[in-house]
Amino acid sequence: MNMAETIQFQRLRGELRHDEPMCRHVSWRAGGTADRFYVPADLDDLGEFLRQLPREEPLLFVGLGSNLLVRDTGFRGTAVLTHASRLRPRMESGLIYAEAGVASPKVARLAAKHDFEGAEFLAGIPGCVGGALAMNAGCYGGETWDIVERVVTIDRGGKLVMRAKDEFDIGYRHCAPKPAREEWFAAAWFRLEPGDGETSRGVIKELLARRIETQPLSLPNAGSVFRNPPRDHAARLIEACGLKGFGRGGARVSEKHANFIVNPQGAAKASDIEWLIQHIQRIVYQMQGVVLQTEVRILGETP
Ligand SMILES: Cc1cc2nc3c(=O)[nH]c(=O)nc-3n(C[C@H](O)[C@H](O)[C@H](O)COP(=O)(O)OP(=O)(O)OC[C@H]3O[C@@H](n4cnc5c(N)ncnc54)[C@H](O)[C@@H]3O)c2cc1C
Repeated sequence: MNMAETIQFQRLRGELRHDEPMCRHVSWRAGGTADRFYVPADLDDLGEFLRQLPREEPLLFVGLGSNLLVRDTGFRGTAVLTHASRLRPRMESGLIYAEAGVASPKVARLAAKHDFEGAEFLAGIPGCVGGALAMNAGCYGGETWDIVERVVTIDRGGKLVMRAKDEFDIGYRHCAPKPAREEWFAAAWFRLEPGDGETSRGVIKELLARRIETQPLSLPNAGSVFRNPPRDHAARLIEACGLKGFGRGGARVSEKHANFIVNPQGAAKASDIEWLIQHIQRIVYQMQGVVLQTEVRILGETP
């Protein structure tokens, strides 16, 4: 019997679904189902839900799924969708407070509105605050944790804990609790430097224009598939191997940006995308001697 159907949850105010197609919740528009899928009404409700879940239940927190692929075989556990379009960041004692489900570009816009600088880079990262913290998302010289003051995490018991920056091991597209513990991001406060809103809005406009020019934003994709190796660019290596435009099933290496894999018709299977990722890794290693590491997170049952 599917465990997802056996629990009688009490007092929940959010939305619970079963066998939810994760292609609806990831920007690649591909992949399998999650056994259980929960959209909490708010953080209290999320706590209530987590408290009632079996301790051993695998958990996947999802923001906008812009860095995520769930294999076609699906995720045998519970996916929690943090993103909600109603969520807004707000000013709190000179800091910006945002729940994990707030879309990151909203933080950039609120900062500019209040004449703070340093969050402009978030305007072009199409994910949520929780995903930006988990990935230490960044671009154009800025990284999420550069501007974090402190965060709130939530554990399996639904307990919210305030945590300082030095309680995490932070690096390039990497963030892990230190010491290791099972918890997820619930919210963050950002500290920014005083600046000029007009200038920040100009920077945001310029960064977005640069993205439109260089990235295949009109096609389903998950941003940069591979991390840049030290002192080089994954896109340069992939292009040098002649892989631009190379495809499998419905997925192909973008012609516009070689570190992007696109799913133009939304018809690719997660297995097409994963095969293409592994093929790129093989060819780049054979031709360039470089091992490319994925930046995107792939999970679910291995077929
Ligand atoms: C067009 C495009 C451009 C992009 N450009 C950039 C870029 O310039 N720089 C960059 O760094 N990234 C970029 N990305 C990748 C992606 O947008 C970022 O990594 C983003 O921060 C992911 O946020 P998300 O909410 O979509 O996370 P998801 O994709 O939903 O999740 C990513 C990972 O974070 C975990 N996670 C999500 N929420 C939480 C939480 N609350 N607590 C703990 N873990 C959580 C997930 O379990 C998963 O492991 C781009 C993606 C696209 C599609």
